[in-house]
Amino acid sequence: MFHENANYQSVKVLENLYGYLWQGIGNNCNTYLFTYLLEGKHPHVLIDPGHISNEFGSPCFDQLLAALHKDGFDADSIGLIINTHAHPDHCEANQALKQKNGEVLIALSQIEDEFRKTVGEKLYALLGMTAPAFEPFLLLREGQLNLGKISLRLIHTPGHSPGSISIYWEERKSLITGDVLFVGSIGRTDFPGGDISLLEQSINKLASLEINYLLTGHATEYGSILTDPDKIKRNFQMVRFFF
Ligand SMILES: [Zn+2]
Repeated sequence: MFHENANYQSVKVLENLYGYLWQGIGNNCNTYLFTYLLEGKHPHVLIDPGHISNEFGSPCFDQLLAALHKDGFDADSIGLIINTHAHPDHCEANQALKQKNGEVLIALSQIEDEFRKTVGEKLYALLGMTAPAFEPFLLLREGQLNLGKISLRLIHTPGHSPGSISIYWEERKSLITGDVLFVGSIGRTDFPGGDISLLEQSINKLASLEINYLLTGHATEYGSILTDPDKIKRNFQMVRFFF
């Protein structure tokens, strides 16, 4: 099930869903890939391409492409990028992917897009970065997103950032949380746009779902993903102590 490629661990979570879990030095997010959903030459959907290169100078995006290649996927076969939120460690590589494949479409929640264009600028300055430059093609709202073979439920889960979305594949009980919820931890709320009480409400909203696969945006000391429904329930109970 697992294999290593450079700084990513590739995990085939389900028949149409892979995880690329960041193992390198420094900060970068985990990336997920839904495969063979869309009609045409670009059938795959990529969630959170991550950094181009991080604070340690790791070439994160090149390494992601190498990990994808090992599983038989490439930049050209990706038709859509969905960002869980607009922090640079999740969406900096949008534009780099767009340069390799001009037909890839980029999607972001409408609320997050408005945030990153206003208050978000200050956040990037705080992090010593310039705001990632990209134009979303699709502005997302809470609700079902039909992607050919499957339908994903987008759930607005603010608190880490105002327009964060969690992505729920109801049929397979899989949830991608971005930076809202981790294994044994919760997202930071000390950045501009963070709000601890909103984060609590968002996590409570997610706790009501039936989840067999919990797929988070960053590893903790306990890992990045949980695939046991009982452990997932315990994780929701455990993180209540942060509020
Ligand atoms: Zn974040």
